[in-house]
Amino acid sequence: QTTLDIETIRKDFPILNREVNGKPLVYLDNAATSQTPQQVIDVIVDYYQNYNANIHRGVHSLSQEATDAYEAARIKIKKHYNIAKTHEVILTSGTTHSINLVANGFTSFVKEGDEILVSAMEHHSNIVPWQMLCERTGGVLKVIPMNQKGELVMEEFHALLSDKTKLVFCNHVSNALGTVNPIEEIIDASHKVSAAVLIDGAQAAPHIKADMQALDVDFYTVSAHKVCGPTGVGMLYGKEEWLNKLPPYQGGGEMIAEVTFEKTTYADLPHKFEAGTPNICGGIAFGAALDYMNSIGFEAIAQYEEELLQYATEQLLAIDGLKIYGTAKNKTSVISFNIDGIHPYDIGTILDKLGIAVRTGHHCAQPIMDFYKIPGTVRASFSFYNTKEEVDVLVEGVKRAKNMLL
Ligand code: PMP
Repeated sequence: QTTLDIETIRKDFPILNREVNGKPLVYLDNAATSQTPQQVIDVIVDYYQNYNANIHRGVHSLSQEATDAYEAARIKIKKHYNIAKTHEVILTSGTTHSINLVANGFTSFVKEGDEILVSAMEHHSNIVPWQMLCERTGGVLKVIPMNQKGELVMEEFHALLSDKTKLVFCNHVSNALGTVNPIEEIIDASHKVSAAVLIDGAQAAPHIKADMQALDVDFYTVSAHKVCGPTGVGMLYGKEEWLNKLPPYQGGGEMIAEVTFEKTTYADLPHKFEAGTPNICGGIAFGAALDYMNSIGFEAIAQYEEELLQYATEQLLAIDGLKIYGTAKNKTSVISFNIDGIHPYDIGTILDKLGIAVRTGHHCAQPIMDFYKIPGTVRASFSFYNTKEEVDVLVEGVKRAKNMLL
């Protein structure tokens, strides 16, 4: 039984009080984006009301205040992920930006015939940038396969590793299936053949507090909007030695040391990778969101979400013809399912009429859908502010949809 006071926690989220199609909102699309607590909304409002200014360049007080708050957020992120050095935290617009920054930077490190391993359960944002890198360099993309349960086949992964492997990319948690991947094993084995590893932590962020120094990972990415923060901001963690080796991704203001028309020298980390005016308010709010999540506590969150997952899994499996995709032993509170003979989109549409928000479709992970030979799934993803009563509403809604559609 959870130690969390869910009723009180729910009061932090004004959006949870609204109605959709005349019914109380049941928000179960947390894997796509999480909701924002008042504590974070207040930080956003405070910024625009009181100290909105451009950072790092002004001598005036507002600019100084904004710079201090932004840099304080960087330190919060550093502490949260147990990162060794503050300048190893690069603030980006999110996971997609972070991955593209690294993929672009690797252009000069990948030669024809070098191999890049990606897992079979990647989000498109963790496939397409590597395909583009291979097109530029003649590198070869190899896929770590998965089994019917939605787990990576680790023997095959070990067999794929060789001295040709330059990079390995894998998500920490799959957004479509909820599988928690054995990233410790992936990182250690990849390092033994001197391959670099990037872990996409977008889906892990709301469930698992990842320790960068313990993992010894080369790169790790997060989007703030998955952890009760705003959209359009995130982090790239990179080991200092790698960040020093990689060229800048974008040119512009903020990322230079000196500019003449003959030659430009680049700024030190992290600014080398932070061209232009960043999402200042977003960065500050990202820090506030981590504070909020930590005030609840990641252990308590994981434990409660596991309760919700077990309860929802049992209730849903009791529905005849319902199949769950992603049955790994180690998974987060995500349930991807279909009902025999019904298109997922039709279920999602009826659920919406009942005020229930789920995601339907391929979840930006088409290769997973191809693997199961399905067009897509209905995905219900639970957060710490969801309740068992909401699971009951979902289950009743799915039963109703089934009766209407079959
Ligand atoms: N990777 C995974 C596993 C994700 O779930 C997402 C978001 N759905 C992304 C990457 C992309 O994140 P963003 O859209 O914030 O860049």
